Amino acid sequence: MALHVEPLPLLQDNYAYLLIDDVKARAVVVDPSEGAPVIASLSARGLHLAAIWCTHHHIDHVGGIDTLARAFPGIEVVGSEYDRANERIPRQSRAVQSGDTLEFADTTFEVVEVPGHTLGAVAYVGGGHAFTGDTLFLAGCGRLFECTAAQMSTSFDRLGALPVATQLWVGHEYTVKNLEFALHVEPGNAAVAARLDAARALRAEGRASVPGSVEEELATNPFLRSRAADVIDFARRHGAEGDAPAQIFAAIRLAKDQF
Ligand SMILES: [Zn+2]
Repeated sequence: MALHVEPLPLLQDNYAYLLIDDVKARAVVVDPSEGAPVIASLSARGLHLAAIWCTHHHIDHVGGIDTLARAFPGIEVVGSEYDRANERIPRQSRAVQSGDTLEFADTTFEVVEVPGHTLGAVAYVGGGHAFTGDTLFLAGCGRLFECTAAQMSTSFDRLGALPVATQLWVGHEYTVKNLEFALHVEPGNAAVAARLDAARALRAEGRASVPGSVEEELATNPFLRSRAADVIDFARRHGAEGDAPAQIFAAIRLAKDQF
């Protein structure tokens, strides 16, 4: 396949991603919080920028667009219909919604609306990769800024239903903290304990913990495990109003806010 993905650590703990077409020496950048480091990465690799894809409008995901647009005049900027209607992604030139597709590097990427962190959040899914922004983090979940826990829970159902080998590229390096919370929720989950050790070892070497797979998430992410007995038990002890997945999800999200 002509496509590969490289994470770019930016700001304190953000990730932008380069989707690189090795044959045509072109790249798409996902969520450029800063412009200059993206331009430096492109020129170091001899790549031309083909488009900017945004998962949502927060400044730590779109802050580099103006700088990139000056370097690549007329560059296509993709984001959700909702974010365009609210004019909150700079220079957005294309609006997408669930079911729309984007073509890059002989790969079709599908847009999946994943409201929860923000109402306009979208994921880009294709070629065995998914870019989830601040909706799903490895072993964790974004904060509920504009949506209900029920909406986020539905978005997690969508992401959790992707093929288990799908590689998840997320918006922030929060993996160790998320796994510490996951172990607090499920102290007996050996997969969580092992993944926490692995993530700590990677971070100690200064390496990124991304990507993770859907399979790993289903085994370790408490927000995808609202049917696991220990997760239900934890949620009950933390104020869940019932056993419905959205109610379990809401209680876990609240407990994480206070962890
Ligand atoms: Zn955000």
